[in-house]
Amino acid sequence: MRILLLGGTGEARKLAHTLAVERGLEIVSSLAGRVSDPVRPGGTVRVGGFGGVEGLRNWLVGNGIELIVDATHPFAATMTAHAAQAGAELGLPMVRLNRPGWVPGPGDHWLRVPDLAAAARVSAATGDRILLTIGRQGVGAFAGYTRPWYLIRAIDPPEAALPPRHEILLARGPFTVESENALLARHRIEVLVTKDSGGAATAAKLVAARDTGIPVVMVDRPPVPPGLVEVTSVGAVREWVTGYAALHRDQNSERG
Ligand code: NAP
Repeated sequence: MRILLLGGTGEARKLAHTLAVERGLEIVSSLAGRVSDPVRPGGTVRVGGFGGVEGLRNWLVGNGIELIVDATHPFAATMTAHAAQAGAELGLPMVRLNRPGWVPGPGDHWLRVPDLAAAARVSAATGDRILLTIGRQGVGAFAGYTRPWYLIRAIDPPEAALPPRHEILLARGPFTVESENALLARHRIEVLVTKDSGGAATAAKLVAARDTGIPVVMVDRPPVPPGLVEVTSVGAVREWVTGYAALHRDQNSERG
């Protein structure tokens, strides 16, 4: 059974390994090609967009895909919507890995906002020295804010328009609480802006913000199409996919 694994996350890399090596399934991992030097999953990998829903549909048929695993980032809503639509049109099963969002604990001071435009507005009204950890693609939403100073952390340099007062810090997680605390102190950060990505790899900044006593502007996740089969862990995807593959094998042998 040939499976398309939509990736770009640590979980997708783990899944590529576990489904191919442990379960012997045929996996094609797909990366968008946004990061110049991505950590590549093992096995077969393709890179680049498919060309919208129609391009994806053609690619799925042309490559004999029988099942889609969407392990893209929780904020990659367009890819998820395209996969859901193309998969439904072709009658392909699809499972989506949606890692749990972060939850504030005692001592956290979070300001939840619906999108990056609101994050830009709220953070500028909250402090003058702002750490942006939202990836390089969303930084343009902050370009019009001339008063605050921004420390912009991203894996690759942003290409969007930038706010006039800024410094760029190129870095790739995971980060430790100690290094995040040191970063906040060194740059006298007053507000942290982040997206509700969830997961452990980049959660240290939230602990550091709590330790330092600064507010966090937290961008909520975008909506996903209704009716998707969603699970929250790599293990649950593995069980779902192997269960489906076994059913598929039994049905084929009954027919044969
Ligand atoms: P997006 O807005 O949902 O997708 C925009 C377009 O990029 C899609 O329509 C598709 O182009 C292409 N694309 C996205 N993911 C792809 C994949 N895995 N394989 C092939 N094409 C893909 O996505 P995004 O937010 O720009 O994220 C891009 C990638 O970075 C994703 O793989 C995601 O897992 C990863 N990522 C995103 C974030 C984030 O905060 N958004 C954070 C970490 C990692 P076509 O329409 O041409 O097919």
